[in-house]
Amino acid sequence: RRIITTENLEEDVKIENSLRPKYLKDYIGQEKAKATLKIYIEAAKARGEALDHVLFYGPPGLGKTTLAGIIANEMDVHMKVTSGPAIEKPGEMAAILNNLQEGDVLFVDEIHRLNRQVEEVLYPAMEDYAIDIVIGKGAGARSIRLDLPKFTLVGATTRAGMLTAPLRDRFGVVHHLEFYTVPELRTIIMNSAAVLGVEIDEAGAMELARRSRGTPRLANRLLKRVRDFAQVKYDGMITKEVADFALDLLDVDKYGLDHIDRNILLTMIEKFQGGPVGLDTLAASVGEDAGTIEDVYEPYLLKNGFIQRTPRGRVVTALSYEHLGISPENIEK
Ligand code: ADP
Repeated sequence: RRIITTENLEEDVKIENSLRPKYLKDYIGQEKAKATLKIYIEAAKARGEALDHVLFYGPPGLGKTTLAGIIANEMDVHMKVTSGPAIEKPGEMAAILNNLQEGDVLFVDEIHRLNRQVEEVLYPAMEDYAIDIVIGKGAGARSIRLDLPKFTLVGATTRAGMLTAPLRDRFGVVHHLEFYTVPELRTIIMNSAAVLGVEIDEAGAMELARRSRGTPRLANRLLKRVRDFAQVKYDGMITKEVADFALDLLDVDKYGLDHIDRNILLTMIEKFQGGPVGLDTLAASVGEDAGTIEDVYEPYLLKNGFIQRTPRGRVVTALSYEHLGISPENIEK
């Protein structure tokens, strides 16, 4: 089973909920998003109003769902969770909205995947806290407006570019979530270890942090996997030695890259002389879905300087050659 996928694996779900920070003060990193949210939350509470609608975008596993939950906790309201692909009909969306209580948070994951008709229910809901319902058919049809409780929509998406303009424009607060730094991940790992009762030393936590791809979900997953190694093969404590041993075996390298990342880089080098190569061509050669490459793999490779985007496509950098131990001269021409 792939370990690097930043998607939510079933094994994560239970543990993830136990590791989710509940309040802003416990949420590590994303300082900019936290600082602005704190102000908006305080202001909304002081006015006794619902918080403005919030959109989070960024790669999976960076804490969008967690932040939505934190908003609900900080505002002291309930959160209802759904996702773009889960709602097929406008009536379903209308029912969800109609069942909200005053001030509630409605969290819509993968909001870019709402179909058009469902999305259109959201426009008046977000803007005027109302839905329009058509009664009757043909010439006798008329539309009535149903008032909704004032609520906060929190949307999450891996790509803000996939949202239609009318939807995007209705969010008062928009935040891009960034990859986490190694020290931030180290803190998250230490906190999670304390919750899970795992023994880990400083060097062990740093090694896990370095290999977690800037992603808390992966950090927690690696912690869990490496804990098993520590229990079975060592005396239970995660040290650097244990972390190195386990992560090498799990095929997660020093930069947190797995075989798919390396395959992407190798393919670009061997089949396309390092690029430029277009996303679809690359996806077909690697045998991965283009959207997955764009949402999951590419952001980290870009961020860490393994590839660059140019107007003509993606190109690998000198760092990729170095990391893979390939000399550019041997490849070119
Ligand atoms: P997303 O919704 O962006 O895919 P999640 O909110 O589900 O990501 O986060 C995945 C896991 O990572 C959560 O279970 C949570 O434990 C952990 N996590 C995410 N962000 C943070 C953070 N800032 N501090 C501590 N843990 C975090």
